Amino acid sequence: MRSIILLSGGIDSATALYSSLKESDEVLALTFDYEIGRSKEIEAAKRIAESAGILHRLVELPFYKSLKGSPSSTSKKLGKEEGGLSPAYVPARNLVFFGVAAAHAETYGAGEIITGHIKGDSSRFPDVGNGFVSAMNTLLGSTSGVGRVVPVIRMPLLGKTKEKVLEEAIRLNVPLERTWSCYNNADEPCGVCYGCESRRDAFRRIGVEDPWGKKK
Ligand SMILES: [Zn+2]
Repeated sequence: MRSIILLSGGIDSATALYSSLKESDEVLALTFDYEIGRSKEIEAAKRIAESAGILHRLVELPFYKSLKGSPSSTSKKLGKEEGGLSPAYVPARNLVFFGVAAAHAETYGAGEIITGHIKGDSSRFPDVGNGFVSAMNTLLGSTSGVGRVVPVIRMPLLGKTKEKVLEEAIRLNVPLERTWSCYNNADEPCGVCYGCESRRDAFRRIGVEDPWGKKK
């Protein structure tokens, strides 16, 4: 079976990708360019796909960059959680992402669309919950062309904590040094944003040194 992976450049989606390699005959990675200042993450996604030896396509979603209230227009330098929602929240993100992925799945003949969402994401992102995903799967089933493969959304890491994902990543030889977790786009990870902090905590908790090295 062919699969599509939504690859952001972070640890979670890279791990979801590597875990799908043994089950899929062919994997196409899609990375969405939807906010200003994501070049480090996009570069990371490209390099991860290269390591995995799979096809990679960058999909531009320029309307997000001018959307009022989008992450590009609000400061998330520190990216702390507020009001239970992630600072990485993007309006209707998965509705758009899954729709665009479905178009690729239909033409590429992919039977599944994989994401790297992990435990806790359903409370941080409203469009990750069971209700949303099952409604989306019903929708995908009703819109795919007759006789074509109907893609199903799969979130293989949804039951795993960040630490469990990290252990899985190490077991699968995910090139963690190529992943990017920082919410900012500087040459080096800032070390203080939510992305950097949760990465550092996860490595610390499993007692492994982050290949990002001794960066903050
Ligand atoms: Zn950071």
